[in-house]
Amino acid sequence: MTTLRNLPSVEQILQTETAAHLIARFGRPLTLDAIRFVLDDTRARFKSGLITALPLIDMLLAQAESQLTAWTKPTLLPVINASGVILHTNLGRAPLSDGTIRAMDIVSRGYSTLEYDIELGQRGSRLIHAESLLQKLTGAEAAVVVNNNASAVLLVLSALANRKRVVISRSQLVEIGGGFRVPDVMKQSGARLVEVGTTNKVHISDYEEALIESTGLVMRAHRSNFKLIGFTEEPELKEIAETAHGFGVPVVDDLGSGALYDTAKYGLAHEPTVQESLQAGADIVCFSGDKLLGGPQAGIIVGKLGQIAKIRKHPLARAVRADKACLAGLSATLLHYLKDEAEREVPIVKMMSLTLKQVKGRAEAWAVELGHGKVVEGESTVGGGSLPGESMPTFLLSLEVKSVERFLRGLRKNHPPIIARTENDKILLDPRTVLPEQEGALLVGLKNLLKNS
Ligand SMILES: *Cc1c(COP(=O)(O)O)cnc(C)c1O
Repeated sequence: MTTLRNLPSVEQILQTETAAHLIARFGRPLTLDAIRFVLDDTRARFKSGLITALPLIDMLLAQAESQLTAWTKPTLLPVINASGVILHTNLGRAPLSDGTIRAMDIVSRGYSTLEYDIELGQRGSRLIHAESLLQKLTGAEAAVVVNNNASAVLLVLSALANRKRVVISRSQLVEIGGGFRVPDVMKQSGARLVEVGTTNKVHISDYEEALIESTGLVMRAHRSNFKLIGFTEEPELKEIAETAHGFGVPVVDDLGSGALYDTAKYGLAHEPTVQESLQAGADIVCFSGDKLLGGPQAGIIVGKLGQIAKIRKHPLARAVRADKACLAGLSATLLHYLKDEAEREVPIVKMMSLTLKQVKGRAEAWAVELGHGKVVEGESTVGGGSLPGESMPTFLLSLEVKSVERFLRGLRKNHPPIIARTENDKILLDPRTVLPEQEGALLVGLKNLLKNS
């Protein structure tokens, strides 16, 4: 009769050659864990009658190996983005330039001047990195970089408006996504929200009335992810800034995306630039590093020296500080703009600047290579809380497949996973967002799936 006594011991299993291989691949402690796990599991299943025969040692090792593979499998994997959404927040927003990756790599491998002043040979500040680049690019007096734009907004409000009134148009009390709501962030910062105007109409007199009472800040938040159309009116930032300054109150502009270039150049609507906000009189402007800038995740705060100094000194600045890889990468991305090479070097700017002919050429080459599919006209979008409702014409590879759902699942199971769109029972793939170096892997994946569908 089979009893649990017949089950091999941990020691017996460890003496096999396969176990030695597993130890070489996964390390001894984890391999031991996996073997014990499999043995415990086998005992439990045997006792409860789920199995009546005991597995052989090879079977136990195979189970241990799949356990080890599952435990060590990364959850954060690269994917091929064929969706045509350039800044896909769920897919990690902006892919980085070679120069940016090199800079992050170099600074991560060793020690750095993160908080060390080489001139003086003493402690320096991490809050100065990227500052001179940002000054040159935007014309701001000072700059500070934090972890992301959500923390930038929280920090700015906490440092400049704690327990003070913050005047904001009702039309700008927005939710950015991922639960980031302007009114909630204000509450968190200790600022007192004062809404002016109505959802669709705000007049400068609304601001004037609110500013009669002592106020800490006037804030403008960019409506990054929706459009307000129809019977609407809102004063220009310039007018808001002049009015606020008349009352001695500074203005903060949360731009969200914060492009440094004119998106109209690529046939899109004009997204307000950082330079324009500062020129219009904003004292502080904050924006993301990984939206239209196309750099690593960061929150960038630029503006007047006095206010930036207060922001730097606030305890939250320490809590939301950027790490060295971010600061190195952001500096490298900013340098592309300073050297006027963004269209060549920054992947998302490159994607936006692709001509229709180039996109069509790639889609056609895919169709030829696959011997399958049709090239059709379509739209790419910017996404990532930038340019809501805006799209740019593109060409797509349209694939007819038996089951769209099954094909999409197959695409997601590919190594690396392929993210596509569907419309009218067709699979649509947009070459605009597929990095050139991923094209080979994309076509191999598609060929395999088409063969089996
Ligand atoms: C995207 C966005 C944020 C948040 O920026 P993250 O970089 O995602 O933290 C804040 N405000 C506005 C207006 C935005 O568009």
